[in-house]
Amino acid sequence: MPANRSPARPPRHLADLGPAERRAAAAELGGPAFRADQLSRHYFGRLTDDPAEMTDLPAGSRDELAGALLPRLLTAERELACDGGTTRKTLWRAFDGALIESVLMRYPDRITMCVSSQAGCGMACPFCATGQAGLTRNLSAAEIVAQVVAGARAVARGTVPGGPGRVSNIVFMGMGEPLANYASVLRAVRRITDPVPAGLGISQRGVTVSTVGLVPAIGRLAGEGLAVRLAVSLHAPDDELRDELVPVNRRWKVAEVLEAAWGYAAATGRRVSIEYALIRDVNDQPWRADALAALLAGRLAHVNLIPLNPTPGSRWTASTPAAMAEFEARLAARGVPVTVRDTRGSQIDGACGQLAGPAGRRPPAGELPALQISARVP
Ligand code: SAH
Repeated sequence: MPANRSPARPPRHLADLGPAERRAAAAELGGPAFRADQLSRHYFGRLTDDPAEMTDLPAGSRDELAGALLPRLLTAERELACDGGTTRKTLWRAFDGALIESVLMRYPDRITMCVSSQAGCGMACPFCATGQAGLTRNLSAAEIVAQVVAGARAVARGTVPGGPGRVSNIVFMGMGEPLANYASVLRAVRRITDPVPAGLGISQRGVTVSTVGLVPAIGRLAGEGLAVRLAVSLHAPDDELRDELVPVNRRWKVAEVLEAAWGYAAATGRRVSIEYALIRDVNDQPWRADALAALLAGRLAHVNLIPLNPTPGSRWTASTPAAMAEFEARLAARGVPVTVRDTRGSQIDGACGQLAGPAGRRPPAGELPALQISARVP
């Protein structure tokens, strides 16, 4: 085998293709083009990729069609659950052995899936477990969509406590920097939000793309005509500290990132979410709350404070409850909308910044058994 090969590409899948490309692919396989629509209904509508269930396709060509257009992309290696089974983290193995994670969170009023856009991450934020391991590779659109389909299927079939339901929200807050894998993420967003059978039919407004602040890509996203929410991982109001917490800040400074965010808000009419992980004695001082408020007051923005989740080997810890309350109060006092994000999934290392694959992880919390998955997953 030649050395230094670039990583192999994941097999082509229906979810990598737009409707016209799918029909062309079905025709290439020698069948009528409408087979593509039938397959799409199975995958995006009925959430199945099992040829045995596709009884509207001729028995002789089911396996070939499904094999060519619905190859299995991800295999569930392990599933961990907490919160009575309403929070579930799945570790997936891709065709080349790359490991990624997704998290499903059921709330009384919504079901959110947190998906990965890359195996690993190249952004190197020192407080994030994913950032410590570096980037393995970009995921394909279909590998991103497959995480959503698996969760949607589990919810639809009643596997998640609370009865059958629908995934309502998608957050690109799993492993990876979504805007560093722009083309695949964009395709995945279209597949997730296009109506059935072109896609899964989840509302664009329910989708959040979270970024470290890749300024040119934010500008590009603003021009896509989408209504998805943008979240910016700010974590510090000043360049001196942000250069350390979010190293890409050395390239695009706080002022440029926020300028791009306001451009996004203006283009889409959507309030930008500003993420701020509160790290004890690092970025949680009252003066930084005031500085953040000064940057955001009067803007179409909302602050999501995230108590720092512990990661292996990190010297940092979450702010005290008193410091968090003070930080929140200072923002609110200046009219900046602010909420504190819950730390769902932290017992299973499934909360923000804790997704890393199995290497170097702490042993999972004792009382949480790994669930075996028996169903075929895409
Ligand atoms: N790369 C993207 C999306 C993934 S992370 C981004 O950075 O926005 C989703 C959010 O979790 C980001 O705001 C990230 O900064 C935050 N995060 C990372 N590690 C964390 C930790 N240990 N505790 C709390 N939040 C963390």
